[in-house]
Amino acid sequence: MFETVIGLEVHVQLNTKTKLFCSCPTSFGEHQNTNTCPTCLALPGALPVVNKEAAIKAMRLGYAINANVVHSSNFDRKSYFYPDSPSAYQITQLTNAIVQKGEVFIDLEDGTQKRIGMTQAHLEADAGKNIHEGSHSKVDLNRAGTPLLEIVSNPDLRNASEAISFLKKLHSTVRYLDISDANMQEGSFRCDVNVSVRPKGQEAFGTRVEIKNMNSFRFIEDAIAYEVQRQTEAYEDGIYEQEVYQETRLWDTEKGVTQSMRGKEEAADYRYFPEPDLPPLVVTEAMIAEAKEMPELPDAKVKRYVEELKIKKYDALVICSEKELAYFFEDILKAGASAKNAVNWLTTELLGRLKKTEFTLSTSPVSASKLGELVSKIDDGTISGKGAKDILDVLMEKEADISELIDSMGLAQVSDDGAILEIIDTILEANPEKVGEYKGGKEKLFGFFVGQTMKASKGSANPQKVNELLKERLG
Ligand code: ADP
Ligand code: MG
Ligand code: ZN
Repeated sequence: MFETVIGLEVHVQLNTKTKLFCSCPTSFGEHQNTNTCPTCLALPGALPVVNKEAAIKAMRLGYAINANVVHSSNFDRKSYFYPDSPSAYQITQLTNAIVQKGEVFIDLEDGTQKRIGMTQAHLEADAGKNIHEGSHSKVDLNRAGTPLLEIVSNPDLRNASEAISFLKKLHSTVRYLDISDANMQEGSFRCDVNVSVRPKGQEAFGTRVEIKNMNSFRFIEDAIAYEVQRQTEAYEDGIYEQEVYQETRLWDTEKGVTQSMRGKEEAADYRYFPEPDLPPLVVTEAMIAEAKEMPELPDAKVKRYVEELKIKKYDALVICSEKELAYFFEDILKAGASAKNAVNWLTTELLGRLKKTEFTLSTSPVSASKLGELVSKIDDGTISGKGAKDILDVLMEKEADISELIDSMGLAQVSDDGAILEIIDTILEANPEKVGEYKGGKEKLFGFFVGQTMKASKGSANPQKVNELLKERLG
């Protein structure tokens, strides 16, 4: 039996207004090479200055993952030649990063949590982009110098599902912290996946292979499965040493295999050395205070939902997994809805309807406060769940006043005891034998009385009230 060992290096593009070492904007989709200046073009003599906003955002992540936020960190120069990097080096943090150690908790299927230790999170500048067109290639340096936070985990993950849980948790956290858009399609949240296998019980780790630049959960899962199988088979076939060596591989989405990109033999010599153009990054008390300003994070939210709102853990995990969903939910509650009904009406009724349209939660035609108003009408018995569904269908199509819809659609429930009792008594008087049978032990007949009462009220009686009052009358 074999055990899988995984460690992740996640590159998060920070959503600062300007680049990491110059004041060029970071806006996406501009005309090529317009967001550039002598610094990010690496013209001789232009000097870098650290972006305070980027440092604060890195620190905020640090505090969120219980890390050691270093008050004086250093930058290093990593040399490599590539056309999209005009300086022929990348400024990064190697040995004394701004964020060190830390922990992230992932939720396992059995409802427990697992602690994943963190190595560090460091600031570094992104490269530009090469654009290949037919027989020639172009270089766009708009992205060159954009701030990245590379977040490195310890090799604490033991299977693909844990790796995905970890990535989802980190993704959600950086979005709650508002330090990154974390848009995977646009590449602002991408990761390198390190995978090795070892015989179960062996303490020493196996040789790790790094799969670079993954930006889809599906592909990450598939790539891990492929690597685990490849490495395990090499072990079993007695060719582990020949087949598995420290190298960088790429996931071929078409063939569904990982392929060697560069091996150990050709491994680049990065010639790391302390960046001579930058002094240590020293943080101020004001920066610390600003970095510590953060919203309630998913773990705390889930705990509060379960303990205070009495919501099922599973539902709390679903709702808190995305800040948009959690904030929408909280706005439904602010409009007066009960938490129990709000969960169902958000996750099943509204999300179910949105899925069938081109709308998302953030463009939902039914606002959180509107849904909250509707749910509180179910809570207080004004309308039935069925009636509320009909109203929600209308609200998905057009703006309307809920009270007016209740009137015009005739959905008001009768919850008044007197009115319902009057109907109940008529039904009981008309069916003396059935009442006798019921009292004689034929309890099944209760449903018959409920049905008759509902029918006589033309469906307008509050079913819960009908049940209560019938029980009372029948003793
Ligand atoms: P480098 O800086 O050369 O990429 P590191 O030692 O910093 O190397 O490790 C990078 C990543 O690889 C980390 O996420 C770490 O957890 C992971 N890692 C290290 N050893 C292993 C291993 N044997 N199997 C799987 N992942 C590993
Ligand atoms: Mg690496
Ligand atoms: Zn610039």
